[in-house]
Amino acid sequence: MSDSALHIRNVPAGSLKKFAIEYKDDPLSSELHRQILDQLKAKQMIYDENEPDLVISIGGDGTLLHAFHTYTHRLNTTAFVGVHTGHLGFYADWTSGEVDGLVEAIIGKSFDLVEYPLLHIGVHYSDNAKPDDLLALNECTVRSASGLLVADVLIKGEKFESFRGDGLCFSTPTGSTAYNKGLSGALVHPSLPSIQLTEIASINNRVFRTVGSPLILPQHHRCQVMPVADRAFTLSVDHLSRVHEDVKKIEFGVAEERIRFARFRPFPFWRRVRDSFIG
Ligand code: NAP
Ligand code: MN
Repeated sequence: MSDSALHIRNVPAGSLKKFAIEYKDDPLSSELHRQILDQLKAKQMIYDENEPDLVISIGGDGTLLHAFHTYTHRLNTTAFVGVHTGHLGFYADWTSGEVDGLVEAIIGKSFDLVEYPLLHIGVHYSDNAKPDDLLALNECTVRSASGLLVADVLIKGEKFESFRGDGLCFSTPTGSTAYNKGLSGALVHPSLPSIQLTEIASINNRVFRTVGSPLILPQHHRCQVMPVADRAFTLSVDHLSRVHEDVKKIEFGVAEERIRFARFRPFPFWRRVRDSFIG
């Protein structure tokens, strides 16, 4: 399967009218922000932070994560593109030297919209309060708020294992090159709508026994994490982290929503993997 499986449609030149820019707080990113802003405005594009057709992220993958969380309410209408000012990124794949070409492409070229799967997290509470619905672009980690995580892991409502250890990590395909990789998870092509569960330092004995290998779940499977005693969990969602008290169940699955990237030129996933990790 090629990257064309990610393609949803070709967008004619001139379709992008409104844009916003998210940039990292460093001199090069700020300078590029100024340049791109001036050049796009000079070509009659409108700077609109509220309803952008295109969000340009300048910095690193972390900057794109930040931009994603700012615009999660507009995923059907906003496309993203990333410029990296440090090392090559998975989401930020344009270099600072290519900014003029990117501006030209935004103004005058047709482009492909490609979409990547996201992770949905449903946090359910013991008092049956409205669940929290969260979206991750990279991953969500589950830890105990106080010490060792002790929890049951269920797949499609059926008990799979009892986990005891530092935590669990649920990642998206594009997040598979981030924290998931550090946990020896597999790298997953983003044309596979799936989530990956990896363990963070599990303890194995006769009471607590885990499978040990990363699991890759398809789109139609849900995975649940249930407290055994302590109901307070620390959940990280990409770069954000907070404690959730009195949790009954946390459910993970491929989200209905997807993130859309404006692809002005091909840059296949495996080439990005090679260029980032092998050189
Ligand atoms: P950060 O501490 O600056 O990020 C850690 C590194 O992960 C940065 O080099 C970042 O790239 C890179 N990264 C982010 N998303 C990536 C992706 N999809 N593929 C490959 N590399 C990626 O914090 P941050 O920039 O806010 O990023 C948050 C992410 O850091 C989390 O979502 C998690 O995946 C990752 N993280 C990893 C570990 C670990 O591997 N042990 C631990 C905690 C968090 P940039 O420099 O381009 O931003
Ligand atoms: Mn970062």
